[in-house]
Amino acid sequence: MNSPEVSVIVPVYNEEAGLPTLFQRLYAAMDAFGAPYEIVFINDGSRDRSAALLREQFERRPDVTRVILLAANAGQHMAIMAGFEHCQGEIVVTIDADLQNPPEEIGRLVEKMREGYDLVGSIRRHRQDSAFRRYASRAMNRLRERITRIKMTDQGCMLRAYRRNIINAINSCREVSTFIPALAYTFAMKPTEIEVAHEERFAGESKYSLYSLIRLNFDLMTGFSLVPLQWFSMVGMGVSLLSALFVAFLALRRLIVGPEAEGVFTLFGIMFFLLGLVLFGVGLIGEYVGRVYLQVRHRPRFLIDAVLETKPRKHTAKHAATAPAAAASPVTTDLPAEPKP
Ligand code: UDP
Ligand code: MG
Repeated sequence: MNSPEVSVIVPVYNEEAGLPTLFQRLYAAMDAFGAPYEIVFINDGSRDRSAALLREQFERRPDVTRVILLAANAGQHMAIMAGFEHCQGEIVVTIDADLQNPPEEIGRLVEKMREGYDLVGSIRRHRQDSAFRRYASRAMNRLRERITRIKMTDQGCMLRAYRRNIINAINSCREVSTFIPALAYTFAMKPTEIEVAHEERFAGESKYSLYSLIRLNFDLMTGFSLVPLQWFSMVGMGVSLLSALFVAFLALRRLIVGPEAEGVFTLFGIMFFLLGLVLFGVGLIGEYVGRVYLQVRHRPRFLIDAVLETKPRKHTAKHAATAPAAAASPVTTDLPAEPKP
C-alpha cells in the first residue's frame, strides 16, 4: 500500500444487510479500474454486526483495506473526517455504504480528476429517493445558493472526489460539526461536476430521520454563512419601520376619530406574528452561539477505538522501512481512544 493513487472512504452505520454486496461490487470495480487503491471503512459506532463484517473483510483483503472503528456514533460527516485523517491517496473519493451510488462510477470520477480538476462533485441522475426528500433537497439547494457563495447543483450527493491538497486543508480544520462537500468547495480552485447514476437503497433504511435532516441543514446554513443573521436584522428593521408607521396612523386616528376599541384581535394577530419573529431570531442566534459553544469546548470530535491496517500511516512509515518483514504481514494497531488535539 505504497501511497495508492485512489483512496475510497466509506462511512458505515448499521449497514450489515448491504455490506457483503458492497464488498463484492466495490472491490471488483476498483480491481477492474486498475489504479493502485486503498479502501478506508469507518465504522461509525454501529450497533449491528457491521464492525465484525468489516474485520472479516480486512482479513480478506489486508493489502488494500483500512478499517477505523469509532468508539461511538459521530455522524456521517465526522466519520468521513476520521477517514480523511487516515487515508493516503492522491485522489480521495467518498461514497455511501448503501449502494445508492454505484461503486462502478468511481472510475469516471477519477478519470475526471486526472484531467486536472481538484474537486469533482456529482449530480444524481434520476434520484431514487422519496418525493419529499427530492423537493426538500431542491429547496435547500436553492436556499444555500442564496446565502453562501458555494455553487453546487446537488449538495446531498456524497459520491465525490477530492485532491490531496483539499484533503490536507480539511484535515487542518477543527470544526466539530460540518458539511464536507461545502467545506471542500471553499478550498477548491478548479471544481467541476459530473452526472452519476443513483439507485434505491440496496438494503436497510435511511439513517437520516426528518429531525437529523433538519439538523444537518442547520449545519450547512449556519456553518458557512452569517447571511441568515443579517437577513434577520433586515427583517427586524423592516418590521420596526412598519410599526412606527402604524403607531403614527393610530395617533392620527385618535385625533380625528376619537377613542376607539375596535380591532383588538387584529392587534393580537400582529402581536403574535411579531412574537413568532422574535422567537425565530432568538433561535437563530442560539444556533450560532451553540456552534461557538461546541467549538470552544475542544472536545475530541470522534473517538477511535481501533484502526486495522497493514502498514501504519505515513508519519510512522520510517520505522516500517527499517523492518520490511514486519510490514509484510498484516498487523492491527489497536490504539486506545485517540483524542484529537
Ligand atoms: N452514516 C454514518 N453515520 C450516521 C449516519 C449515516 O456513517 O450517523 C452513513 C451510512 O451508513 C451511509 C451514509 O452515511 O453509508 C449515508 O447514509 P444514508 O444512506 O442513510 O443517508 P441518505 O442516503 O438517506 O441521505
Ligand atoms: Mg443513502
